[in-house]
Amino acid sequence: MIVDNTFATPINQNPLALGADLVIHSATKYLGGHADALGGALCGPRDLVKKVFGWREITGATLGPMAAYLLLRGMKTLSLRVRHQNESAGRIAAYLNSHSAVSAVYYPGLDTHPGHEIAKKQMRGFGGMLSFELAGGFEAMKAFLPRLNLANLTANLGAVETIVGPPATTSHVECTPEERAKLGISEALVRYSVGIEDTEDLIADLEQALA
Ligand SMILES: *Cc1c(COP(=O)(O)O)cnc(C)c1O
Repeated sequence: MIVDNTFATPINQNPLALGADLVIHSATKYLGGHADALGGALCGPRDLVKKVFGWREITGATLGPMAAYLLLRGMKTLSLRVRHQNESAGRIAAYLNSHSAVSAVYYPGLDTHPGHEIAKKQMRGFGGMLSFELAGGFEAMKAFLPRLNLANLTANLGAVETIVGPPATTSHVECTPEERAKLGISEALVRYSVGIEDTEDLIADLEQALA
């Protein structure tokens, strides 16, 4: 069993300790944390990792020295960044949950989330990623997103800057609208990756854009 622990980060959750065989990370996201280097990590028992390592050697996906340096440098602040992002995301999720222009908020730290009990058992924090749906649908999203001043409209996540994007036109753009609906991804879903900015500033930014 392989777990992609990119969103949780090793600060919040350790799947190997919970019985997973292997853990993968997009180091491009939280591990690097500064949206300036591409990389990945595979963690687990030596015999399993060795098989992948051999294959990787042949296919040539080798991390460049500059990216390696940036990722190592970024990881020194991983714990500080993630702990702030956990706290900030929790407060933002609660704020959005109480806003009348928002019809749904998805965050494992909310007790209304279907995975909340499991998350509480196995995570030390609920992470910096959340998503929400606007009551006004796709049209409302088109008006809302460009009005955000402190969130970058891009397809990345897990950086020091707050990043926002609609999965319908970014991560899940290759699915048909029917496939997205089946996955529970509405056309008005907004993905919000909380950065390390001041929480009050982010909430004020959301407030003015929602208004
Ligand atoms: C971005 C991402 C990937 C892909 O990683 P890259 O570093 O962009 O190649 C894989 N899994 C998750 C959960 C991601 O967010």
